[in-house]
Amino acid sequence: MSQQFDVVVIGAGPAGYVAAIRCAQLGLTTACVDQWTDHDGKPSLGGTCLNVGCIPSKALLDSSHQYHRVQHQLKAHGITIDGAAIDVKTMLARKDKIVSTLTRGIDGLFKHNKVTFIHGHGRLMTKDKIRITHREGEETVNASHVIVATGSIPIELPVAPFDGERIVDSTGALNFEQVPKRLGIVGAGVIGLELGSVWSRLGSKVIILEALPSLLPAVDQQIAKDAERQFKQQGLDIRLGTTVKGAKSTADAVTVSYTDGEGDHQLKVDRLVVAVGRRPYTEDLFAPGIGVDLDDRGYIQVDDRCQTGVPDVYAVGDVVRGPMLAHKGSEEGNAVAELVAGQSAHVNYDVIPWVIYTHPEIAWVGRAEQDLQNEGIPYNAGTFPFAATGRALAADDTAGRVKILAHQHTDEILGVHIIGPQASELVAEVVVAMEFSASAEDIARTVHAHPTLSEAVHEAALAVHKRAIHRAN
Ligand code: FAD
Ligand code: NAD
Repeated sequence: MSQQFDVVVIGAGPAGYVAAIRCAQLGLTTACVDQWTDHDGKPSLGGTCLNVGCIPSKALLDSSHQYHRVQHQLKAHGITIDGAAIDVKTMLARKDKIVSTLTRGIDGLFKHNKVTFIHGHGRLMTKDKIRITHREGEETVNASHVIVATGSIPIELPVAPFDGERIVDSTGALNFEQVPKRLGIVGAGVIGLELGSVWSRLGSKVIILEALPSLLPAVDQQIAKDAERQFKQQGLDIRLGTTVKGAKSTADAVTVSYTDGEGDHQLKVDRLVVAVGRRPYTEDLFAPGIGVDLDDRGYIQVDDRCQTGVPDVYAVGDVVRGPMLAHKGSEEGNAVAELVAGQSAHVNYDVIPWVIYTHPEIAWVGRAEQDLQNEGIPYNAGTFPFAATGRALAADDTAGRVKILAHQHTDEILGVHIIGPQASELVAEVVVAMEFSASAEDIARTVHAHPTLSEAVHEAALAVHKRAIHRAN
């Protein structure tokens, strides 16, 4: 007889595993089905984020940052290290160890919370019946509620299809066994900039081809301009307004043909990373006629409670609308678990932070200045440069600024944009403030420790009212 669960979650990425653990915490009998398989054919929980996304990319960003510091920044501190070298094999092994520590950690959390894990491909046959195909064959489980969290996969460019060798996706770019002398990247989005930074710091000449005429159009444009300047100084060759026409691999190189405003070009690189976005993944997920609708871009259609058109079938994470971010998916997973358990819950989509983990880091939450201008919302802006804070000077890490946008009449914070050291951590303060509908004055009147980078946030809040202390207003 088929097993019966209160909830079956399909997908164990940050959206699915959080949903499963929260359901179990709330006393619901819960199973989680996931098909991810590591090199040894074993399950590896955590989805894209833990296996080939957030975590391994940050491990490499940290390794390459250390190497870059040793080479370029320690001299100013009076520290000389001769013969610094990068051992890529060790760097990749360290990354893989972090990944396996975390993926095993989810396994432990499932056991601790009594979530039944089933390794295999899940398919929704009816609204309450899931068929799971695995190495041993097939099984069917029944569920009173289903939460779909099947995530996303890289978009492939027909003119430059992945070959797994020289033309690769982000996963390939996490595993180069040698530092490519010349690395081409298509797409100057989050992945292009983060993984471009990794290999550039390790010595690659990185050339990024971006279709749009400006860098990071969704980011506050002042911050995006700051970022572009910094990346240029670091040697990233970002070519905007390009159209890739084709890419041809040979035994030892890839030749990319592209056009821009000046005509046709050819670019020869050792490897090419195609990072032009990701698409929702729903391959072989629904039996025909089940009634779960996809939109024209392939996302599962849900309402603001992540409910699909079929009662008791929910969908969360990258497979539904909204930013493709781990923490957005986790919050949805958490909220849906609570809804299924009969509680009330919601996700505040207006206050989701974004971080790009380049150096300097870029972090933001809420509206950009150009959004406020386009929407005709009256605002005051306050900015403060890290170069005017003692802590950034002491750390020799002064590039960047904090910018706070507050409503001109109510002073409520509408958006905060940070480029600079530890921006990923600094943004948390303003996320909390915005969750409580705080004003710039609230942050301005909050005591910030000295000397810290957070003083730049404090000063930017003061600057909203033209009363920053450590710079001319
Ligand atoms: P996923 O993590 O994609 O998990 C879905 C899971 O479902 C997978 O394990 C998949 O195998 C499984 N699955 C799919 N279909 C089935 C099926 N039918 N049956 C069984 N199992 C199935 N986000 C951030 O917030 N911060 C970052 O720093 C960050 N860095 C990133 C870096 C890279 C290189 C990449 C590629 C992504 C990064 N992201 C980052 C995005 C983040 O990884 C995703 O937003 C997040 O993983 C989405 O979570 P999810 O649970 O919705 O889906
Ligand atoms: P992206 O949407 O961030 O960037 C894709 C870029 O490729 C865009 O600038 C786009 O204009 C460009 N592009 C699209 N088609 C092109 C073409 N034919 N030629 C040249 N350029 C083209 O996507 P991504 O970098 O692939 O990342 C996917 C998603 O993964 C991100 O949107 C984000 O949600 C998530 N992610 C998040 C983080 C983080 O939070 N730090 C890190 C990595 C990935």
